[in-house]
Amino acid sequence: MTLDQLCAMEICVVDEDPIRAERLSSLLRDKGGFRSVSWVDSQESLKQRLTPASPFDPPTPLQLALLSDSFAMGDVLSVCRMLDEKGTTSVLMADEGETWRGVEASRVFDAGAVDILFRPWSDSEVVPRISLALRVHQERMTRRQREVRLEEELAERRVMEARLKYRVGHDELTGLANRGRLEGVLELALIKAQNFNRPGALLYLDIDQFKLVNDTEGHESGDKLLSGVAGILRRRVQPRHLAVRIGSDEFAVLLENTSSTVALQLAEDLREALHDYRFEGRLGCYNLGASIGVALLLPSEKLEAGELLSRADQACHVAKKRGRNRVHCYDAADPEVVGLKRDATWVPMLREALRNGSFTLEFQPIVRARDGACSHYEALIRLVENGEMHAPGEFIPSAERMGLIHQVDLWVVEAAVDRLATIHQVDDQEPICMSINLSAYAFRNPVLMPLLERKLEMTGISPRRLMFEITETAAVTQLEQTRELVERMRTLGCRFALDDFGSGFATFNYLKHFPVDVLKIDGTFVVNMLKNPTDELLVRSMVNVAHSLDKKVIAEFVEDEATAVRLREIGVDYLQGFYLGRPQSQIKPMHSPAFSGVAAAAAGTGS
Ligand code: C2E
Ligand code: MG
Ligand code: MG
Repeated sequence: MTLDQLCAMEICVVDEDPIRAERLSSLLRDKGGFRSVSWVDSQESLKQRLTPASPFDPPTPLQLALLSDSFAMGDVLSVCRMLDEKGTTSVLMADEGETWRGVEASRVFDAGAVDILFRPWSDSEVVPRISLALRVHQERMTRRQREVRLEEELAERRVMEARLKYRVGHDELTGLANRGRLEGVLELALIKAQNFNRPGALLYLDIDQFKLVNDTEGHESGDKLLSGVAGILRRRVQPRHLAVRIGSDEFAVLLENTSSTVALQLAEDLREALHDYRFEGRLGCYNLGASIGVALLLPSEKLEAGELLSRADQACHVAKKRGRNRVHCYDAADPEVVGLKRDATWVPMLREALRNGSFTLEFQPIVRARDGACSHYEALIRLVENGEMHAPGEFIPSAERMGLIHQVDLWVVEAAVDRLATIHQVDDQEPICMSINLSAYAFRNPVLMPLLERKLEMTGISPRRLMFEITETAAVTQLEQTRELVERMRTLGCRFALDDFGSGFATFNYLKHFPVDVLKIDGTFVVNMLKNPTDELLVRSMVNVAHSLDKKVIAEFVEDEATAVRLREIGVDYLQGFYLGRPQSQIKPMHSPAFSGVAAAAAGTGS
């Protein structure tokens, strides 16, 4: 602090004796150079001096009060304290004597005074002691300001911590509890359910129209809709239960100490309330709806919180799959749930296989019925994991559900064409052909055709050597799109077969306009054909239909000689099955060894 700042400080002499006060004031002004020295003659006037003119004005500053001891002792102490509270430092001006010595002196200092000047004083000591008192005052103020700032910072931090704590457990948009909080509470609820025989339930809600509103009306409207849903939950769910926003458009309600009947009824009420809720957007009015999954907390069952949450989620998934706007209670036997469980194990394995190439192809011979010649193989995918070979029936459905099927299709096409390119072709032998199975989603794969064209160009393989297979069911459910794919592939020069023919559709009317080259009769008609006349009749009629439309026929699942002989009689063009050759890793042109028996038997019957 500079001398000038020191001299600018406000000093007030508090003394009822005007002469004494004036003497001291002049001394401070003249000798000390203090520019703001005032005088009041009573405690009352001092209080007034400190009180601002209006309650809106800042407090009038007063750094130092020089208090005469002519007040009663108690008053001196209380005035000191009052001044201290207002940020004014005091110095006591007292008569020489015993009164303000020892204990009493320390009481004055405790009350906030910083010095006692005893009369009669020498003028030369007054100015330095007043300067010192002002410096002490300044230091006190700095310290106090620092303390106040620290206090404020602490308070702010406490508020922030409280806010953070709230946020950790709550969803910011809706103010409902969030997933983290639910997980914590679930643990407890499960313990209570098991130890105190108190059942409960967890509802998992997915808002059916949310994506539509969010995409067409914008995110702000989406947020409004979610707040509306939260409002419905708040009104319908008793405060003793917990309503939660799990994330995005997913909500949950944890019902404790509630029977399954009541829980299912509440789920139904919520579904109805959400169905009745109309959301007014800028572009239109939307009817919501919710798919609600219910997982029960049964005292008899030991469950982890994560498992319960996942059950409710799975039940919600089933509700969605079965048409939305419905309540579904978890059942481990639901086919959708079984599929979900399978997907959860297969997806990481499929990803790994796509990355590391742990897929492989096996090839099954397709034999010409007329003479047993074999120059055609069907490529069948397998997944090898820890030395174990998995059949496509195990993982293809998961790949289809989880959106990995496009990559699988591309892998198969690439691997099959590459394999064909490695086969050494002998000039006088028929070129080896390959059948490649495509998934039901192949027509949606924008990369498939360009990949095929590039592979054919790179390897120089004739497109005639490739035949693609798609199941009849897949083709019929997506007739137009599949027809387009088939036409493009045939334009390229490849052939096309309908796989598992006969299994899907009662009428074959569509076949007239469906541009395939080959029908592969579903193996289930073939295996029992000799024992089941209806199956044989169906096979015969399928062969007739195919031939009348100028298409070739392959029969699959040929497991024995007798069936092979009968199929040849019926007029089937090609045979495929374990009897003629199992799927294997090798491809070599051959004359089926099993076929000599067929030919001999056929010769024996004179056909
Ligand atoms: P699919 O195309 O009808 O293939 C014939 C299936 O029947 C093969 O099973 C084959 O091993 C089996 N099989 C062959 N001969 C006999 C027999 O005499 N008796 C019996 N009981 N079975 C026989 P796999 O390899 O398990 O394939 C099953 C299905 O998986 C295939 O049926 C096909 O729809 C699909 N698939 C196979 N490979 C691929 C592929 O690369 N991509 C796609 N998307 N699907 C594939
Ligand atoms: Mg096939
Ligand atoms: Mg088949």
